Amino acid sequence: MATGSPVVGIQRRSAMSASSKIIHHPSPNFGPRRDVTRPDMVVIHYTAMDTAEAALERLCSPEFEVSAHYLICEQGTVYQMVEETMRAWHAGAGSWGAVSDVNSHSIGIELANNGRTPFAAAQMDALEVLLADIMARWDIRPEGVIGHSDMAPSRKSDPGPRFDWQRLARVGLSVWPTDSGFEISEAEFPAALTAFGYPEGPDAQRLAAFRLRFRPWATGPLSQGDREAIAGLLKEKTVGEEPPKLMPVGDGSYSLEFDGEDFDLVVQAIRRRYGKPTKKEYPTLTVYTVDGCELVYQNEWDDPCLVSDCAKGEEILRAVLDDILILKGRTSST
Ligand SMILES: [Zn+2]
Repeated sequence: MATGSPVVGIQRRSAMSASSKIIHHPSPNFGPRRDVTRPDMVVIHYTAMDTAEAALERLCSPEFEVSAHYLICEQGTVYQMVEETMRAWHAGAGSWGAVSDVNSHSIGIELANNGRTPFAAAQMDALEVLLADIMARWDIRPEGVIGHSDMAPSRKSDPGPRFDWQRLARVGLSVWPTDSGFEISEAEFPAALTAFGYPEGPDAQRLAAFRLRFRPWATGPLSQGDREAIAGLLKEKTVGEEPPKLMPVGDGSYSLEFDGEDFDLVVQAIRRRYGKPTKKEYPTLTVYTVDGCELVYQNEWDDPCLVSDCAKGEEILRAVLDDILILKGRTSST
């Protein structure tokens, strides 16, 4: 090569214009989406083949009856094989949350990778551009972007431990655990995995699938790190909903405002941390005494609230708010 740094030049061009120079390479392997009018998930795969060309050929051959909407080569070239409105055949048996026909709900993206080598920088750049475009056009939320191994832990391990989920999460294209300050017990861990979306199955297999995506370095039995990670993910999952909120109301008082139907969760959260509160009922309000602090519950307005009038009360309400977010995550998809 006579010109300077051609590799860098190619990478930058492909990253910046991946969505605008998609190469159409139609596959006959698709059908209409069933009972779904639009995709609300994206499933990431690796091809497990030695070359992108071989994968492209297979994904477009009628005899193999497999396909995906997109294939991204190591150099960042994007091939589109199936229209996004159509149902491509990439996910197979498995489920995620309440969705059992993942193909009907999703857009499938294959990354040319043999499963043993790191994903190329240009390929990840192109994936980011494509994903951002897809998610914006179909209004797909970050938690809707999953790996093939997430929905089919017993059969699949792609996109594997080398795939950089954290990188996608940093730009809002997927999720990564936040520090929730909340712990899920060993006994609650299976239910927490289910709430996040993992299908039912043997505990060890589910833990392996969870770690493959979020803690690929982890080994051994279920640990505190695993429990903290799932708690952080469930908290993250509730962010898009109308969350309860804590508002200062003057004189050092705080008001925790929540949706009426969340009252049971509030009480549950208080009991988890502080035990059963004592309760005094008055005509228009109820006073709960929690850990020696009085919290006034009013529900005469549209949104009920708990009001504290001391520093200890604020601390309790903050802790309760954290827990409600977790509990909402745990209950929202089950
Ligand atoms: Zn796959």
